[in-house]
Amino acid sequence: MDGKVAVITGAASGIGAATARLYAEAGAAVVLGWYPGDPHDVRPVLDTVTALGGKAIAVEVDVSDASDVARLMRTAVDGLGGLDVVVANAGIARRVPSAELSDDEFHRLLDVDLVGVFRCFREAIPTMRAQGRGRLIATSSIAGAHYGWPDHVHYTSAKAGVVGLVRTLALDVARDGITVNAVAPGVVVTPQSSDPVNSLGPAGLETFADAVPVGRNGRPEDIAATFLYLASDEAAFLTGQTLVVDGGVSLQLV
Ligand code: NAD
Repeated sequence: MDGKVAVITGAASGIGAATARLYAEAGAAVVLGWYPGDPHDVRPVLDTVTALGGKAIAVEVDVSDASDVARLMRTAVDGLGGLDVVVANAGIARRVPSAELSDDEFHRLLDVDLVGVFRCFREAIPTMRAQGRGRLIATSSIAGAHYGWPDHVHYTSAKAGVVGLVRTLALDVARDGITVNAVAPGVVVTPQSSDPVNSLGPAGLETFADAVPVGRNGRPEDIAATFLYLASDEAAFLTGQTLVVDGGVSLQLV
């Protein structure tokens, strides 16, 4: 990724932080979108990238705010000289029984996990179009893309929505040298999945690992490695797809 500039949202933790580190190792300059509403500190990621000799800028962003997203993309162009890759990875999971889920809660989650992805991509397209190249990459989930997840109907709707989003957007920008893809991770050990209230929590993660054909849960680096491939020149013919990276979980009937 020498000479490339990548914007990553949700870059202060989990999958986003691992992606920032891997991209920087591969030579990219990175804009780290981080969300102050969460208790994650972006500084360790910034320090790691800098220690690798890479360039990084941290930008506060709420992906549900269009002006924040515009500023995020402008920082890549003005601060690092281009915009080659966007990894729209920010997301939230909330456990709410369907019968109790309010319109507001549903909209709020979609605004981050689905429309937030679209906002990031839409904002990047003019620059990528002018360059004649670009990589738009999103984080879906096997929850939604493949399975239901009890008490998470808004989350699974958003993540299934990402599958449809990349299909159509891929067609809309195919002649501009831009590819649009998603990754649907299985269970990955991150702050989100370690939250016992809204996700599996530590005990649930341990139980789940036993059911994974490869014998373990995912690591953030497993997903980052797929993002690295999707960002590469070699992936130029791959577009509109959602790649399942789940240690084989979705291969099982029960
Ligand atoms: P995480 O909680 O560490 O990362 C999510 C990041 O999104 C956080 O850094 C958070 O600050 C950021 N964020 C939350 N709301 C935001 C907002 N409004 N604007 C900008 N940023 C915001 O957990 P993770 O597992 O690394 O999650 C990354 C992505 O992977 C998410 O989209 C998540 O849904 C998806 N995912 C995770 C798993 C898993 O098992 N961990 C599985 C499938 C998909």
